[in-house]
Amino acid sequence: MNSNARTVGFQAGERNIFFHILTACNLSCRHCYINTGQHGTTTLARKTIEKWLELFADPGKKSNVIFLGGEPTMHPDLSHGIAKAKELGMAVTVDSNGYLFNDLLEKTSPDLLDYLSFSLDGPDALVNDPIRGEGVFDVCTTNMRKAVQMKYNVSVIYTVSNLNIDHLHRMIPLLAEIGVKRFFIQVIGLRGHSAQDSPGDQGWQVSPEQWLDIVPRVANSAAEAGIHVTFPKVFLEKDEAFECAGVVTENFFIFPNGRVYRCPLCEDHPIHALEIKDDALVHRAGLTEDNFFQLNIAEGCVMNKLLQPDTISYDKDGKPNHRISCCLLKQEILPV
Ligand code: SF4
Ligand code: SF4
Repeated sequence: MNSNARTVGFQAGERNIFFHILTACNLSCRHCYINTGQHGTTTLARKTIEKWLELFADPGKKSNVIFLGGEPTMHPDLSHGIAKAKELGMAVTVDSNGYLFNDLLEKTSPDLLDYLSFSLDGPDALVNDPIRGEGVFDVCTTNMRKAVQMKYNVSVIYTVSNLNIDHLHRMIPLLAEIGVKRFFIQVIGLRGHSAQDSPGDQGWQVSPEQWLDIVPRVANSAAEAGIHVTFPKVFLEKDEAFECAGVVTENFFIFPNGRVYRCPLCEDHPIHALEIKDDALVHRAGLTEDNFFQLNIAEGCVMNKLLQPDTISYDKDGKPNHRISCCLLKQEILPV
């Protein structure tokens, strides 16, 4: 279909810091990617959050920090982390499951927190709650409304899977009515729980045909409703160049046990390129994710081919039907 989507190329000189300040969570979503066996169960102390933020601060670069968990609002010092990141010149986002513990809305302000993102996987409790937990839809949407009333910029993350793709279009009237400014549609990755618990015959994943038929169309409709939409590229066009974010950009996925990954697909494996030891950031020797980023294969992303080979289909000559883009490559449609 025709789409007004623009691919958001990787920006040199920009860094994105995905900072998991704890792994604890009040929910147990079926597709949760947190893997405490790999990421530990530590809750970082306030001083450590501040020191680690300083490690990634670079005044010469546009830096975005995204506070994550577990559920980051369960951390009693999240508001201090937000203030510290702002002091370091970073744009700040918090990704929450909607419970907003520790009076976050009252403890920080829209001046310090650029975006408050809520994870919601369905337009009503019937779709959302079997994935995220009973009662979650009501709590999440109530707190979204409260945040909008308090003038926070509110965004929503919808993780598309086989369980909810047919309901994606029904998110638009809900988001428009609440006053959500940005809508992030993301594709389910087979990490953490979703790598083990596979619902039904088709499992979690949507087919390329389903994705290409539904997601760009819904994204266009959301933009027409005044919402800024971002969604992963996933399938590269024939004339589009493949780029690995691990080579061309600076993304850091920090976990509370000190592991720092450059690629989110690697997070279930001890191949992180960097680690924080005694509050210093160090490169790891030996075989790490960095070694894979350089490989050039017909299928596109090498980690996708290694970890999620079922997502790739081949023609009769053995050529892949689609090249898979870097999972960090996004498309966006601005509000009409
Ligand atoms: S997906 Fe997020 S909200 Fe759900 S259990 Fe995992 S950390 Fe908690
Ligand atoms: S998802 Fe693939 S292309 Fe993107 S950083 Fe990881 S290995 Fe590189």
